[in-house]
Amino acid sequence: LIRFDLLQTVAHAVGTRHGGISTPPYDTLNLGYGTRDEEYRVVENRRRFVESLGVARSSVVAGRLSHGTQVRTFRSSDHRSLNSYVTPVRSVSDRREAFFDADAAVSDVPELFLLLTFADCVPILFADRRRGVVGAAHAGWRGTARGIAVEVVRTMRREFGSNPRDMVIGIGPSIGPCCYEVGGEVLAAFAQSGLEAVTRQSNGSTSLDLWTTNERQLLEAGVAPENIENKRLCTSCNVDDFFSHRAEHGATGRFGLLIGRG
Ligand SMILES: [Zn+2]
Repeated sequence: LIRFDLLQTVAHAVGTRHGGISTPPYDTLNLGYGTRDEEYRVVENRRRFVESLGVARSSVVAGRLSHGTQVRTFRSSDHRSLNSYVTPVRSVSDRREAFFDADAAVSDVPELFLLLTFADCVPILFADRRRGVVGAAHAGWRGTARGIAVEVVRTMRREFGSNPRDMVIGIGPSIGPCCYEVGGEVLAAFAQSGLEAVTRQSNGSTSLDLWTTNERQLLEAGVAPENIENKRLCTSCNVDDFFSHRAEHGATGRFGLLIGRG
């Protein structure tokens, strides 16, 4: 498990691919329902991941990802039951897990845990220790080009009165600039949004640095540099420990991010 020193006061972890029951190419802790893995294995893997962190499955809300920039808010002052926060699960009742349709969420609800899944996109964890708010984002190139990390900061400000200076951020394992050659479509998306893409050039090819790109967006949003912990850990270079969509040519699993106030 990957943990962040800056986030010690909140319950959180980013998982690896170890400790599950899935067989290649999903070996072994595949948490992705969207993969072609057998569903009962994904259900068991999700149970193992969540329970290994001491969290009940009934306390988890999981993002159904679409590479958008919507941020879902879970607010304790609403005094709503967990089930009312989420899209009802219409099939496979034994999943015992609730979903929300977004790539990011923020919450100040005690005992509620946010779960997102990854295989190269950037896991970003947020906490405002003063206000007792946590957040999580799934930032691929599309989300990064549209500023999803900044959308989370904005949502925490708007919904909870958070000051970016009070926020601590963890940037988890994802594909690094060492392995992430990109084409014109990706750079055009940044040009269109007006956000900076931090890139490396070598031998006529361009690689995108999603870590630094997201970090710069967060700094511009007012987060203090000493409050960002960037692991700079490449999933594609470390495919023994993490799933990597690029390194494994799309046939791979998903590892998880879990965060909550605890
Ligand atoms: Zn790499």
